[in-house]
Amino acid sequence: MDNFEADILILGYGPAGVSAALYGLRAGLDVLLVGKDGGALSKAHAIQNYYGLEKPLTGEELLQVGKKQALDLGAQIVDDEVMDLMFDGSQFVAKGLTASYHGKVCIMATGAARKKHPLPGMAEMEGHGVSYCAVCDSFFYKGKNVAVLGNGEYALHETEELLQVVGSATLLTNGAEVSAKFPDKVRIEKRHLQGLVGEGAFQGVQYEDGTEENFDGLFVALGSANATDLALKAGAAFDQGKLVLDGDLQTTLPGLYAAGDCTGGILQVSIAVGEGARAALAAIKYLRENK
Ligand SMILES: Cc1cc2nc3c(=O)[nH]c(=O)nc-3n(C[C@H](O)[C@H](O)[C@H](O)COP(=O)(O)OP(=O)(O)OC[C@H]3O[C@@H](n4cnc5c(N)ncnc54)[C@H](O)[C@@H]3O)c2cc1C
Repeated sequence: MDNFEADILILGYGPAGVSAALYGLRAGLDVLLVGKDGGALSKAHAIQNYYGLEKPLTGEELLQVGKKQALDLGAQIVDDEVMDLMFDGSQFVAKGLTASYHGKVCIMATGAARKKHPLPGMAEMEGHGVSYCAVCDSFFYKGKNVAVLGNGEYALHETEELLQVVGSATLLTNGAEVSAKFPDKVRIEKRHLQGLVGEGAFQGVQYEDGTEENFDGLFVALGSANATDLALKAGAAFDQGKLVLDGDLQTTLPGLYAAGDCTGGILQVSIAVGEGARAALAAIKYLRENK
């Protein structure tokens, strides 16, 4: 697996990530941007309410202008999906599908989190049998029978982590097709889910056909890892599903920042760009003070 190194590792190359990169690059630092796709911006039909545009641009056009601006100033930009984030005592290490990415500081700019509690009963059972982090909680399910909710590479990553500890794992796709290659020992259950079973604590799931199945725990790994998932794995705190951030957009883990839609504020390009700048300026100061 390849290794990429930089002073500032930025996860996501949308407006927040690119804006952070521009500040890092102009401070003379090595900047590495890792993103899996065009994020929310690429879905915008026309951006008209951002400063300085002579005419509306499509989100995709604005995305490409931003990426080119960062490339021209010397950024490394890599396409990959990040699954994991840790702090190894001296730097942040993000694991992607194809490589590992290292940074002395890290700015998470991964866009708006997916819907956090997709099934009835899930919010109440979080921490009571429902988990969002295999590396954090697999220990509690040693030898037990767990389910993973998801269908893609991130669900595979979480399942592989669990298989080192648990007795058995079932993938619940909730009607979706599987888009990653799961080990044969993982049972794949594609039936649609109705909800979770259990009073206060998770006991199993109910399928749409009315049948129920018991599991000891449920790990949610829908879509790809978002900033909250990654912060949790790295050891930063969050509260009620939201990252805990200080005035510099720093998480509770020194050197780990968040910016843009993933901070849960107003979902606009201008805000994402502003937060990217704020996080980068704080990260630059942190790097200079902690050389
Ligand atoms: C349909 C639509 C229309 C909109 N219209 C407007 C508008 O008119 N004006 C306006 O100001 N705003 C608009 N917005 C909102 C705007 O697009 C967002 O606020 C802005 O793009 C947020 O920037 P961001 O960098 O925080 O996140 P995003 O643009 O979502 O970028 C997130 C980045 O993180 C990457 N990423 C996520 N997870 C991972 C992972 N696990 N590994 C690697 N990379 C990852 C993505 O690939 C992407 O590169 C619109 C949004 C939508 C969806």
